[in-house]
Amino acid sequence: MSTTTESIRGHHSILKMLERALSRSRLPHALLFAGAAGIGKKRVALHLAQCLFCLRTPPDELSCCQTCDSCKQMAAGTHPDLISVECPPDKNILPLSLIIGEDEHRGREGVCYEMSLRPMVGDRRIAIIDDADKMNAESANALLKTLEEPSANYLMVLIASELDAILPTIRSRCQLIRFNQLPLEDVAALLLNQQLVESEDQALQIARLSEGSLKIASQLLDENLQSLRGNITGLLSRHPFQPHAFSEAVIQAIDDVGGNTAAQRKTALWVIKFCADFYHQSLQFAAGYQTAPAAAHVERFVSGLPGETEDRIETIGNLLGRMLQTEEQVNQNVSLPLCIESLSQDLRGIQTK
Ligand SMILES: [Zn+2]
Repeated sequence: MSTTTESIRGHHSILKMLERALSRSRLPHALLFAGAAGIGKKRVALHLAQCLFCLRTPPDELSCCQTCDSCKQMAAGTHPDLISVECPPDKNILPLSLIIGEDEHRGREGVCYEMSLRPMVGDRRIAIIDDADKMNAESANALLKTLEEPSANYLMVLIASELDAILPTIRSRCQLIRFNQLPLEDVAALLLNQQLVESEDQALQIARLSEGSLKIASQLLDENLQSLRGNITGLLSRHPFQPHAFSEAVIQAIDDVGGNTAAQRKTALWVIKFCADFYHQSLQFAAGYQTAPAAAHVERFVSGLPGETEDRIETIGNLLGRMLQTEEQVNQNVSLPLCIESLSQDLRGIQTK
């Protein structure tokens, strides 16, 4: 994947920091990029690698030409001095073979071996170890040996979304760089740039629930989730609120994912997210804080609530509070049908009191 500084959203302070380290020739030989999944850590790692490999820009600058052989190889993913590994999607643990080679080639392939070789094209070899938090102890210890022998010929970038899962001995040998969530506007812009959404409005709708992660945003693009979201917010905006219709729809959605309880809880958490987002928008509309025109169902919902503005704000605040309580219950493994039934009754109770 080819990168430019401009194509990287957010993380400007991190790019500045890397730039400063390069200009002083003080880039450590091992970096640990930590932060939520899907916010661009690997993108920054690849950009750094491309800038270091670029044959036309000075090594003390965080820039690349996009046209030299090295830049072309980076764009094609074929640069001979870049070793990039990650956990396969169907595995929970980063395979040991990626670090020290398959049984029959132990020590003669994998990241540790590759990093002991001399650079083929440039002045260093670079390893990007994505999902470093999914290494088992054996992998981590093997990697540690390589990290204990720092060399000017190599750079290692470890990427982790769960910093606590990285062994302290590894952490202490890497410079930790923490990545923040992407701002909402950046997620929206990325969704639009990558043509994952059809309109700016849809981009913002998705970005608002993404927790600053392009990975979560991509999950939200799933058609089933989108139609569930439309269905749920439609039911929430109805006056009077119909608890049976609501709980039936939610329980149906949970049943639809099959018998896997983890997947069922995930669906329940999506529903809670959709509800909380709907009430949050309603609260902003009721208080006159919204920055964009409110959606029709938000307006309909708020204007249908009894009382004056103050009463409405209080009611919506209580509804939102009830959603947060439900989120806690779901995370504490309370029975989902019971949890949804009592939520439905309470949503009605709060609106009719
Ligand atoms: Zn170049």
